[in-house]
Amino acid sequence: MISTKHDDVYYTTVKTTKADKVAQTADRKVTITAYITPKMPGVPVYFRVEDLDPDDPSDYEPDEDKGDNRDAVDPPEDKAGELSAPWAVTSWVMIDGVVQAAAEVELTITDKHSGDNYRVQASVHQDFSAYAETALLTGWKRIYVEKDKMFRRGEDLTEDAGVGTANTDRVTVANTAGFEIGDEVLIFDTDDQALPFGESPVIVNIAGNELIFGDNLTGTYEAGEWQQGGKMAYVGLKVDADGEEYPIEFYEADTSMVEQLFEQAFVEVKFPLLGAGPIPLTRWAQEPEDMELHALSERWWCPANRRKPNHIHLMGAEEYFEGSDKAGLTVSDNFDWTFIWVLPNETAHAKYNEDTTAHELVHHFSLIQGHCENLAFTIPEEEPPEKCIMYEEVRDVTNSIVRFCVPHISKFIEDDEDVDVGVRDAPDGL
Ligand SMILES: [Zn+2]
Ligand SMILES: [Zn+2]
Repeated sequence: MISTKHDDVYYTTVKTTKADKVAQTADRKVTITAYITPKMPGVPVYFRVEDLDPDDPSDYEPDEDKGDNRDAVDPPEDKAGELSAPWAVTSWVMIDGVVQAAAEVELTITDKHSGDNYRVQASVHQDFSAYAETALLTGWKRIYVEKDKMFRRGEDLTEDAGVGTANTDRVTVANTAGFEIGDEVLIFDTDDQALPFGESPVIVNIAGNELIFGDNLTGTYEAGEWQQGGKMAYVGLKVDADGEEYPIEFYEADTSMVEQLFEQAFVEVKFPLLGAGPIPLTRWAQEPEDMELHALSERWWCPANRRKPNHIHLMGAEEYFEGSDKAGLTVSDNFDWTFIWVLPNETAHAKYNEDTTAHELVHHFSLIQGHCENLAFTIPEEEPPEKCIMYEEVRDVTNSIVRFCVPHISKFIEDDEDVDVGVRDAPDGL
């Protein structure tokens, strides 16, 4: 949990504490520091959390009542936040290059309910007859999404390539039919998890099963036996020799609606660059089993991101199998991956790809089925949205506004047997 919106605001980027650090360096904990003027050491400063907690300013929470934090911790009075001490004494410290007389305490916030908010007041008067107070501090959840994209054209390497092989200017594939002299390709293997994800030579000749390049390869690529759990290397077609003006290299999930959707529930989505790269075009003879998709994820999910709390593997992939009407698929228990099935003729920013990507990521929040037929929440004087983004037929949602319904944000009841909670109330640690 973080205490203010993202990392680009004052309380998490500027050093404010007596340790000359930012106010939040650990989940749930916020250091509240009071500076007094005139600057004097040894002065007691009293602290209290605003009780009731401040009003939730969300668009879907129209009243102005305070005391609406959702965390009913033990004891329940602490839902406004808990301070480490009711007072502290000032001392001289250098903070962000300035000498201050400062006193500080630590605020503990919810470990679960994003959108809960807090304000701390500080006074040199025990009766708080005059006081200063913090800005509104709001708890956010954060998730990390490694976004991989699938080549539209390419072949597995059938032999190791690059440095250490007999001819370092070529690769061997089972079928060269998809390549032409002049094509720019990308050669990479499962070890390539950081930019530039392998190297990009140009084909100058094709002989038998070999693609031959103008320059020697500088990396090493292990073809391996990936079916047996080994490594895998691939050559993907980047720019075709015919010079297509806008060649589409990849099947890719479109994340452009993700931030807009998730911030409604106070969830920050981060897309780490490490590991966010290409994966080979992968085809199955029929609709793949979860375990086959899991194996693909395991092979290409950067080891640094795998099986860590709140980390998700998002992959764009070709939709090709007969009879499928799926737009995306998520398995959140243990696996933590999402596939977005992209139509072969789809260009970037197709509406349903945007919506499906946002929709599928929500399924990671322990929502049993997660679907609903509710209307999304409305904002006065704005175009009314259509269905909640968790409408099962997400492709039928054509409005440009992407929102949750209120139950999906706060309390979601699936049916008589299964009760589940909305995104704001889902436990941290997906
Ligand atoms: Zn769904
Ligand atoms: Zn809904």
